[in-house]
Amino acid sequence: MARRPSKHLRQPRPLPDSLGQAQSKVDGTWVVQALSAGRTDKEYLCPGCNQRIAAGSPQIVAWPRTAHVGSSSPVAERRHWHTPCWNRRR
Ligand SMILES: [Zn+2]
Repeated sequence: MARRPSKHLRQPRPLPDSLGQAQSKVDGTWVVQALSAGRTDKEYLCPGCNQRIAAGSPQIVAWPRTAHVGSSSPVAERRHWHTPCWNRRR
C-alpha cells in the first residue's frame, strides 16, 4: 500500500491575531484584539476598573480606529482591558 502524505490533511493556518476586530462603542470605533494566556509579560492597568491585569492572563487590547487629535498613531493609544471590563463597555 502506498503511504503518500495527503495535502488535504494540512491544518488551516490560523489568522494572524494582529488583524484585530472593529467594535463600535459609545466613544467611537475601536480595533479589538483578544490576547490569550501567556501573551504578555507585563502588568497593565485596566481602564475599566483601575485594577491590575496580571501578566500573562487573557486580556483585550483595544485602540481607536482613528487616532485622536494630537496623537501620533492609533496604536500608541492602545489600552489593555480585562475581558469582562471591555465587554461591559457600551
Ligand atoms: Zn478591569
